[in-house]
Amino acid sequence: MVRIAVIKRDKCNPHECGDFLCKRVCPVNRQGQDCIVTALTEHKAKINEELCIGCGICTIKCPFKAIDIINLPESLKEDPINRFGENGFALYSLPTPVMGKVVGIIGRNGIGKSTAIKILAGVLKPNLGKTKDGKNIEASYDNIINFFKGTETQRFFEKVKAKEIVISYKPQNVDLIPKTTKGKVGQLLKKADQLGKIEEVIDIFELKHILDSDIKDISGGELQRVAIAATIIKKANLYVFDEPTSYLDIKQRLKVSKFIRGMADENTAVLVIEHDLIALDYMTDTIHIMYGKPGSYGVVALPRATKNSINTYLEGFLKDENIRFRDKKIVFDIKSPMEKKKGIELTKWPKLNKKLGKFKLEANEGTIMKKEIVGILGENGIGKTSFVKLLAGVGKPDNCKIEMDIKISYKPQYLNSESDELVMNVLADALKRHKNDVIKPLEILPLLEKQINQLSGGELQRVAIAEALARDCKLVLLDEPSAYLDVEQRLILSKIVSNLAYVRGISILVVDHDLLFLDYLSEKLMVFEGEPAINGVATGPFLMEEGMNKLLKEVKITMRRDEFSGRPRINKKNSVKDREQKNKGKYYYS
Ligand code: SF4
Ligand code: SF4
Repeated sequence: MVRIAVIKRDKCNPHECGDFLCKRVCPVNRQGQDCIVTALTEHKAKINEELCIGCGICTIKCPFKAIDIINLPESLKEDPINRFGENGFALYSLPTPVMGKVVGIIGRNGIGKSTAIKILAGVLKPNLGKTKDGKNIEASYDNIINFFKGTETQRFFEKVKAKEIVISYKPQNVDLIPKTTKGKVGQLLKKADQLGKIEEVIDIFELKHILDSDIKDISGGELQRVAIAATIIKKANLYVFDEPTSYLDIKQRLKVSKFIRGMADENTAVLVIEHDLIALDYMTDTIHIMYGKPGSYGVVALPRATKNSINTYLEGFLKDENIRFRDKKIVFDIKSPMEKKKGIELTKWPKLNKKLGKFKLEANEGTIMKKEIVGILGENGIGKTSFVKLLAGVGKPDNCKIEMDIKISYKPQYLNSESDELVMNVLADALKRHKNDVIKPLEILPLLEKQINQLSGGELQRVAIAEALARDCKLVLLDEPSAYLDVEQRLILSKIVSNLAYVRGISILVVDHDLLFLDYLSEKLMVFEGEPAINGVATGPFLMEEGMNKLLKEVKITMRRDEFSGRPRINKKNSVKDREQKNKGKYYYS
């Protein structure tokens, strides 16, 4: 059995646990051997993996949950490609860029995706798991080439060593860009333009109106598009995109996916990390699934063809490796509109309009049924959030009153991260009443002792969702709940929301840009159309097929259902299916 011990240094606090409690409870230590000792370089625990018998007592006794003892899958024979110090996060294997192909990476946050990319990009020199006296021993390129002998990755690193690989990299956190880059968007793009493609990308990614804006003044979606454009116009033969669709609306996601898909040629490789499965499906030729335990270890599985890889991911089982990484598979119900029952009305709103500065919002009258989940789709800046706020009672329409005589719970799009309140206080009610159906599946228990202002974007999102779902109400309004969540958390959230509607009988309205997430969740759809920042018109709720048809027709894309998993997939432009569906006016199959 291959075993690793991981100590989370930020959590290990020997002063507060009773002076190395773990040393005293370890049965190997008690027999006089030094299994758990004090690290040489810092006042923290260190575990000798050779002596550890894997009893797990220290993991239970440590009051700060600072220790993870992991029995690795039998099939994992090789050493890690990198270990962040002794008892640190271990990464096994790497994804392989291939000339002429777009290769995707899919997996949870904290599982080493960005580390893997940094190694490939030459930003991080791996240590092949070797450390001495608590310090990393960087591997030479010859060692790395030898490590991957007989694989595509060997050939890749031979090229890296020969300096034949030039990388252009779009980082994950675009919101950090203004902290390191200063200046006007147009000037910055001009500086990056090594291929003379600046005019083309400005046009494709609709950047003309922000060329004179300072980079610090543009929105998240605009920053993302500028970062992608800057990556594309650099001269490179490996283009790496870390989460290219976050902050983008559905139209922009499709545009970016289409562009990235077309980038690979015989001299160019493309690598993409993405949590939006429809976008990832559309962009890539093959995908590496990454599994493991966030914060402790991550394994890069061999690449599979895209369709097979996403279906395998939903199954939660890697057949060739004989590894189950999720206990349940995710199944998409094929919804038939013919089978829909009429339902009982919960509430309705009148035809309404609202002027916000120069922007004008109009919404047709609409109804929500009991236990119904309604998705809301549309471009950014077209009034979705303003509409949801009006329903939540944050502001009033100009022409009428919304009279909803029911309790409403609302999760806004932008979350307040300033508070120093503890998570356990914010969620005190939720902990009492919804520990099993909300708190546990959203993995909030490890966050309870943190302050709100210490949470990451994804953690804050999960806390805000839990707070909204746990309130006593008849209608929940969720504005962009999938933002900052990884693919696994999105799938889990869909399940929680569906169960809540079914078991507690509440209705839920969800604004989001992730089509697969909405397809999995929603029974009906509202569609917003218009011109961003000028006007927006809301129609629906429609049955899913009708709503999706409306949206997909506008973006000129058709979707079919995967025959194995039931998930929706985008048809290749001008493929037989694409032409057939367009001719029939059936852009989407429900
Ligand atoms: Fe104390 Fe836990 Fe650190 Fe061991 S791992 S020293 S029990 S805080
Ligand atoms: Fe000691 Fe290993 Fe048991 Fe922890 S799991 S108490 S380190 S033998």
